[in-house]
Amino acid sequence: MSALLEVRNISRSFRTTLAVNDVSFSVREGELVGLMGPNGAGKSTLFNLIAGVLPPSAGEIVYDGRTVTGWKAHDMARVGIARTFQIPKPYRQLSVIENVMLSAFLREKSIVGARKVAAATLDDVGLADFAESPASSLTVGLLKRLEVARALAMRPKLVLFDEIMAGLTPTEVGSMTSFVAQLPSRGITVIWVEHVLYAIMKTATRMIVINRGKQIAEGTPAMMARDPAVVKAYLGEEIAIA
Ligand code: ADP
Ligand code: MG
Repeated sequence: MSALLEVRNISRSFRTTLAVNDVSFSVREGELVGLMGPNGAGKSTLFNLIAGVLPPSAGEIVYDGRTVTGWKAHDMARVGIARTFQIPKPYRQLSVIENVMLSAFLREKSIVGARKVAAATLDDVGLADFAESPASSLTVGLLKRLEVARALAMRPKLVLFDEIMAGLTPTEVGSMTSFVAQLPSRGITVIWVEHVLYAIMKTATRMIVINRGKQIAEGTPAMMARDPAVVKAYLGEEIAIA
């Protein structure tokens, strides 16, 4: 398997904060990689860099053999990188299916085509019954599913999930975990940030750990739970890592 994504010495600062500091890693096609780190570690910023929401201050991003550093989110989406936002940002006045159609239009030119893709995606994430409801009527759990549907309707090759479990009930966590776990078998490579670590640890083939913008560890979930640097980074956080 070849590398689908290569992040090379990437950094991003905001005034005096070095949010991402010289991070390098690669992800092969078909992997499900967990990206973990305590609050403020730089996870969402790293996603913003990979998805083209923010340009890096330094470093390079190579995707599918192409240097895409500095590309805008729309161009990243076109080549197959989609992301969810930690705080869902649906168009609240639009219906659930209309929200998903807006993503489907990336690859579908007709309204009929976009509606078809959107309906299939809603079915996939278990939101079919809410297709015609206004997005503003959804509960937190359903909004997270809508976020996932909006990303998947772009038919990405690489999807970045940013805390799609926050606020979900244990049952919802279970079904979302099984859903994410089967994406690689459908040709979708996943990088997953989650505060609900047990879900990721059960599912990911590999974990990358960052703290204060720096990569501090990488390995299997079982290795990470025993890594002193990882355990130390999480001290003081109310979170069980195994
Ligand atoms: P995480 O997702 O791991 O919790 P973030 O990437 O959101 O961490 O944040 C990393 C650091 O960068 C934090 O110190 C945060 O305050 C800072 N940061 C993130 N985004 C911005 C921004 N747009 N402007 C200024 N500082 C930011
Ligand atoms: Mg975050």
